[in-house]
Amino acid sequence: MKKLAVVIPLIAALFLACVATGPGGKTSLVIIPTGQEVAIGAGMAQEVEATEKILNDPVWQSYLNEVGQKIVSVCDRKDIDYHFTVIESDQVNAFAAPGGYVYFYTGLLKEMHSEAELAAVVAHEVSHVVARHSMKRIQAAMGVAMAYELVFGDSSSQVLQTAVGVGLGLLSATYSRSNEREADSYGITYMVRAGYHPDGAMGMFETLAALGGAGSTSVFEQLASTHPETQERINNARAQMAEMQPLSSSLTIGRERYEQMLKRLPVGSTGSGGR
Ligand SMILES: [Zn+2]
Repeated sequence: MKKLAVVIPLIAALFLACVATGPGGKTSLVIIPTGQEVAIGAGMAQEVEATEKILNDPVWQSYLNEVGQKIVSVCDRKDIDYHFTVIESDQVNAFAAPGGYVYFYTGLLKEMHSEAELAAVVAHEVSHVVARHSMKRIQAAMGVAMAYELVFGDSSSQVLQTAVGVGLGLLSATYSRSNEREADSYGITYMVRAGYHPDGAMGMFETLAALGGAGSTSVFEQLASTHPETQERINNARAQMAEMQPLSSSLTIGRERYEQMLKRLPVGSTGSGGR
């Protein structure tokens, strides 16, 4: 019986590590602990920042961070610090590494028309972090045995470097349809909670879908008017907004301030390639 007394707490501890809270308090099967997730994200961020050109404008960096932290303050995951960074590149893209490292390309910022549209993309990316979507796919790509090494390994271990490499390799991969659906849905919930009008999400979807119609793969989330999935996502967003009626009259679009910020963006940025 003595043995059992030791084993049960161990199993319980492992089980607790697996049950991480996602959007809306849902649980998800991630065995890699938050500390290691943040270490993987930090490793990926170091690589991203060494290879991409970070926009040299503190006003833009702090503006994106301000919008980002507004969304973070109403999201379902606050056990990590979130970092929002603008990359100077014509790519129409944004992505989130694990552990709360979120990146926006100036190419995407230029296509947005208001702070609410920007907030829609921010909230979508934050939702991927809340739901640990990138951790789940890193874990799947590494395999359970290696992931368990991360559970018990230290932060300087070789297996951590492997996870960083796997994560970087997956940055350009698309998420599953159900992951996107989840990020879209919580994204709209979060932006509204943060005080933005959900019309911003519709504007963002429609703008990007129109851009992606030419077959470009670099557009954020590969949204393209020609993809049946894109139409489904727009329809889902519209249905969600209908359920939210009546909306508070205090929700903002933030067009004027965004237009001022647009003027600060460098003209004709060049990118360092795809992600
Ligand atoms: Zn997404």
